[in-house]
Amino acid sequence: MNIWVLTRTKAYRSADLLVEAGKSKGVTVSKIFTDDLQFEISEADPSKLIAEYGRPDICHLRVGSISDASHFALASQLSSLGIRSTNNPDTMLMLRDKAVSLAKLSAAKVPIPKTLAMPAKYDLSKIYESLGESGPWVLKSRFGAYGEGVLLVESKRGLRSALDTLLAKSEQTLLQEFIDKRIGKDIRVLVIGDKAVAAMERSSGDGKDFRSNMALGGASKKVKLTDELSSLAVAATKATGLTIAGVDILGEPGGYVVTEVNMSPGLMGISEASGVDVASLVIDQLME
Ligand code: ADP
Repeated sequence: MNIWVLTRTKAYRSADLLVEAGKSKGVTVSKIFTDDLQFEISEADPSKLIAEYGRPDICHLRVGSISDASHFALASQLSSLGIRSTNNPDTMLMLRDKAVSLAKLSAAKVPIPKTLAMPAKYDLSKIYESLGESGPWVLKSRFGAYGEGVLLVESKRGLRSALDTLLAKSEQTLLQEFIDKRIGKDIRVLVIGDKAVAAMERSSGDGKDFRSNMALGGASKKVKLTDELSSLAVAATKATGLTIAGVDILGEPGGYVVTEVNMSPGLMGISEASGVDVASLVIDQLME
């Protein structure tokens, strides 16, 4: 069996874990770095890649929301050659928009933070009506990853200027209620297929940032994967149509909310924190 892992750069260390896990199962895992591809959108280039790496049985797409479109073009061409990808490229393209992803969660009755999609002309009184007057609030770009474009706004004055600045630049912005992590935790649950397989608790590295993304130096530790967390993470993954996902959860037992379903979850941090060999489980899923 031949699996291609499509990722932008060598910096994606999880690809190495997948290669190792593949070796132990007698599966070839080829890493394809899309940043290195001068990719022509034509039939010729996938054929050249296939000649170089061997025809894949399945591709694993590692693409963040900010990745450029060539991944998707390539995945789509491979799909027309009958080669499947996990996750599905069309689903991933759609989910790059956080507004769409949150709408899917909400439609499936998965609890999310109260979120407003901000138009260029906004009405502050309506914001206060739905999200409260006292703040803080979280402003996030509809298209962003690794915590970039996520702002904490603590005062009414700050809210107005942040909104005006972003909207003047035609930023597509969401405004959210702030979920206070001091009363709860930021938890990442990894879902593979229809199973939650591992979990970790994340906190910002120096404790001075409200964002706990690992890409921003966040630290992680083991956390118990309770039934409540498992079923919430599986429901969130199902709602978005993903097969492999990292579900970010804030809040407390009995009142958890899902802030994000990550379609290209890193494997390194969660394997280390949970002690679960998640790369092996990803390979098992790809082999199904
Ligand atoms: P990204 O996709 O860029 O990681 P997220 O929406 O997941 O963006 O936000 C990044 C981080 O910011 C989250 O992991 C979480 O720690 C924090 N965060 C996001 N939304 C909220 C919120 N509504 N309340 C409190 N913290 C939040």
